Formats: sequence, structure tokens, C-alpha cells
Amino acid sequence: MDKSIYKVNKINDTTFQIDECGRDYCYLLLGKEKALLIDCSIGSGDIKGVVKDLTDLPITVAVTHAHGDHSGAGYQFGEIWVHESECNKLFRAINIQHWRKKLISNHMRKAGVTQKDIKGRIYDCKWLPFSDGKVFELGGRTVTAHHTPGHSPGSVVFTDETQKLMFTGDNTCPFLLMKVMCATTLEKWLVGAEKTLELSKEYEPWCAHGENAKQTPQQIERTINYVREIIEKHGHKNEKESKKAFYPEKSFDDCVVYDTKKIV
Ligand SMILES: [Zn+2]
Ligand SMILES: [Zn+2]
Repeated sequence: MDKSIYKVNKINDTTFQIDECGRDYCYLLLGKEKALLIDCSIGSGDIKGVVKDLTDLPITVAVTHAHGDHSGAGYQFGEIWVHESECNKLFRAINIQHWRKKLISNHMRKAGVTQKDIKGRIYDCKWLPFSDGKVFELGGRTVTAHHTPGHSPGSVVFTDETQKLMFTGDNTCPFLLMKVMCATTLEKWLVGAEKTLELSKEYEPWCAHGENAKQTPQQIERTINYVREIIEKHGHKNEKESKKAFYPEKSFDDCVVYDTKKIV
């Protein structure tokens, strides 16, 4: 297992961003007694080794949602915390099927990782359920989970009360993917996104994909406005047919990808 596919970016002395081939970003938060890894990547390399090089503290893993690019490396840690609405056999089975097909991006191919390297291990760990408001005490550092369904039913935002940082996963990324298995309607997404926007005025937001994954309240607000415009454009109702649509236009850094049958 190779550690070198991961790149570590230091946010501050006790907070690190771990970059898996530019494809997804995880965050390691160090307290005085424990470390919290928020999302653990696909696990195509030795991310546990990377974390161990950064800290000797006991590691807890919690995911912003259970998609394979966030929970795949669970097998290296043995157990991960997942929001209760995704912590079930059905979601797990659907998810495995989905992610086995989609796991390998161009970035990972460049890193020499194949389906075979990952297959069979991706979900081989224990999932521990948590609910809205769950608090992770790290010793002098407190992290709280806020349930914000949308991109997936159990998407959460983690706020770091101590350092005023927040970690939003995929739910408000500048490239917002809502045409994905088990996503909510756009209308339901708005509720959590508005909560996230409010939080982002107090906490510095970081997401899981995109150019260095640094967010701003302005970007979150712009994405919310796109979704409002889509709902307006469709006259507050769904199309009869399910189609993949892009708004305002297809772009990998500023766009909403949605299902025309899942507007409201
Ligand atoms: Zn996702
Ligand atoms: Zn993702």
C-alpha cells in the first residue's frame, strides 16, 4: 500500500487536509486526546499510514456521507461513524454497486490504481450510526454534526466549535451533484443548504471536491441561488421524465447537476 498517492496540506498546526490524487479531500483534526478524521477517501493507498505519520493519538473516523470516495478506506480503520439514515443494509448495498462502477477516475488511473486494488475491501468495516447533533470530543476541541440531507440522505456538516472551521462534504460543493443515487429533491436540499450558509458565516467552510476544496459563503449562496432558479424554471414541479440536467451550464467547477424528476 502506497502512502505517496496522498498529499498533505496543512491548514494550521492541528488541522490537515489530505488530498487523494486531487479527486477527494479528507480532513484530520487533532485534539489533545483524540484525532478525528473527517472522511477517509476511497482508500486506494495507505491513508492510515499517512494519518499515523501526522499523529500518535487514537483515531476516530466520521464521514460526511457514505459514498465510496468518503468511506471506502473504512477497511483500514475497522470502524467509521455514518449518519443513521445511511447506516443500513439497503444503502450499503446500493452504494457498493454504484461505487464499484464509478470508483476509478482519471486521477486514480494516473496513480496506477485499478478496480482490482479496491474491490472487495471498500466496505469491509463496521458502520456506527450517529444522529443530528452528535458531538465528538477530542480533548480541548469539540466537533458537532449537523444533518443536511440533499446530495445523499445522511449528508452532514461538521462544525469545529473550537477553531471555527467546518467541513461540508459534497452537499454544497461548487459542482453540486444531485443526480446521484438516493439524493433528495432540490427543494429538500435547500433546507440543509440554507443552514450550511448560515453556519458558513461563523465557520470557515471546506468541502470534499474541487480546486483545493476551500469554500466561501458567497459560493454557497451562489449554488443556493442556482437551485432556486432551477425550481422556478421548472414551475415548482417535476418533469415527467427523469433526465440529467446541468445548470446554468455544464462545468466542473460551478454548476448544479440534477434530475428533472426530482425538483420538488
Ligand atoms: Zn458524494
Ligand atoms: Zn464525494
